[in-house]
Amino acid sequence: MLYSRKSVYFQFLVKVHPTVFSEGNCQCRKRWSHQLSLDSLTLSRSRLRQTSHVPRKPSISPSKITTYLACPVKYRFTYLDDRAKWLLRAKSYYSFGSTLHRVLQRFHDSGDSGVTTTSEVLAAYDESWIDAGFSSAEEMAEAYGEGKEILERYVAEAQEKPVEAKTLFVERQLRHDFGDFVLIGRIDRVDEYEDGTLEVVDYKSGRTAVTEEDVAADIAMCCYQLLLSKKYPGRPTRARILALRTGTTAAHSLAGEELETFERDITTLARMILTEDFDQRKAVRKPMCDYCDFLTLCKQDPDFPEA
Ligand code: SF4
Repeated sequence: MLYSRKSVYFQFLVKVHPTVFSEGNCQCRKRWSHQLSLDSLTLSRSRLRQTSHVPRKPSISPSKITTYLACPVKYRFTYLDDRAKWLLRAKSYYSFGSTLHRVLQRFHDSGDSGVTTTSEVLAAYDESWIDAGFSSAEEMAEAYGEGKEILERYVAEAQEKPVEAKTLFVERQLRHDFGDFVLIGRIDRVDEYEDGTLEVVDYKSGRTAVTEEDVAADIAMCCYQLLLSKKYPGRPTRARILALRTGTTAAHSLAGEELETFERDITTLARMILTEDFDQRKAVRKPMCDYCDFLTLCKQDPDFPEA
């Protein structure tokens, strides 16, 4: 069985794709597992070459995987079809998140000694502000105020907390070559603890709450730990999500059999995605379509239902 019930990743799939992966939906799951088995066994280098949007070796990332699981047609439009890219619109929440990430990167970067106090952090905030995607000046002013409060609280808490770890690096891309494809992940921050544990810290600018179960089921967090374990074999790893709006945080460690299961599942899924014939994919109407940049393209299909 490719996806054991205990697999964190399977639990994730059930959560995000209940119609396909629910344990009660035996027929769909059987078909899916069968497809995965075939793909993993018969992976052909020639089919991988057909996905030649990446000139050399195909790459996969947590963003690509989550996009695919949410909607394979969206994956195609986002990553494979150049004609669709002009439809992508700037989003205010991406701008807001990118701004906060940039400031926190500088705050934790030991090579950037100019951003340590609250006033320096707020100056960096002004320098880093991205205004793309906001629908009005009022909306942007509100977001700007929220960001300022988040950063002020963040710096105050960081200054009060005892130092338990040192920052190993910030905003770095890790990659691992699995032979026929490369897994890539961009990590916000990695802290190193005295006992040798490496902790990935991921900032979430839109969230107010997070639990250990959320971290365990988060595909990006699992990918980051897999990448860390490849780069630093033998070192214990942990992933932590920090909900910036409230300062709430939770962590989960992926190790041993659980990590091996995740690696097996994720590499199988990656190969399935990278070898899929997307021309055969039909757009399926779902709630997220109403907010999708590609809705106008999908509506061109006469079989695509109106809302
Ligand atoms: S409109 Fe719906 S079906 Fe089409 S790409 Fe977007 S999410 Fe997928």
